[in-house]
Amino acid sequence: NFVSALVPPGEIGVKFDDIGALEDVKSALNELVILPMRRPELFSRGNLLRPCKGILLFGPPGTGKTLLAKALATEAGANFISITGSTLTSKWFGDAEKLTKALFTFASRLAPVIIFVDEVDSLLGARGGAFEHEATRRMRNEFMAAWDGLRSKDSQRILILGATNRPFDLDDAVIRRLPRRIHVDLPDAENRKKILKIILANENLEPGFEIDKLANSTEGYSGSDLKNLCIAAAYRPVQELLEHEKQVHKDNGSPMLRPLNLDDFL
Ligand code: ATP
Repeated sequence: NFVSALVPPGEIGVKFDDIGALEDVKSALNELVILPMRRPELFSRGNLLRPCKGILLFGPPGTGKTLLAKALATEAGANFISITGSTLTSKWFGDAEKLTKALFTFASRLAPVIIFVDEVDSLLGARGGAFEHEATRRMRNEFMAAWDGLRSKDSQRILILGATNRPFDLDDAVIRRLPRRIHVDLPDAENRKKILKIILANENLEPGFEIDKLANSTEGYSGSDLKNLCIAAAYRPVQELLEHEKQVHKDNGSPMLRPLNLDDFL
């Protein structure tokens, strides 16, 4: 079960350079995770530089939290295990507690490792609801206990990284275990431009395309929204070509795909 969710550091395929903007977030993660994982000897003296066992990334959907988690594993040279509530529950419901124990045993053998808990509110959200399943409650308690039980030697090399769009749904017990909380916010125009540059890096763009104009007119768009907009624009020339082929007889030769015109998509 976990093995399918495990990705070794060289195979993740995302680096910090593939993420536009979010410079402050990247630099905080460098200090909190990358350095201690890559150079543990620098953090082993005295009590001031304590390793961080848990970090929470919170912010609106599509702002790059999952992308950051993956890139962080690459940059830290760590294995990456991604779990959600359904990794530990769903059809394995009865075994959720055992599975949770196994996850931590497995992780300690794989250190350095980042355990990414996407939608951490759904796995470890507010407790004690009237309809809470007994197995969920036990799994959650087991998760907390195993997390607390990470020996300090391990904790430098095992990080729980939670992500949520709903930080207010987390209860105090979880918040306490995620002492570093990093806001991953929607990009402003300047940062939208940086993200667009990365998304469009390898595209054949219409001459005269103005990236600033697009960045300025996409207020409120997340990185994911920008990506979807560009995908839709990239698809348009394909649709047009197919349409043209339907009308013109094949023998006349196919026209070339025209470049992307993002102005159509504002
Ligand atoms: P959710 O909260 O909905 O799970 P998320 O914050 O985890 O969203 P991602 O899944 O990381 O967001 O982002 C979705 C996609 O949007 C990414 O795979 C990437 O293609 C694009 N994207 C988002 N932010 C950025 C960014 N800063 N730079 C480049 N691409 C981005």
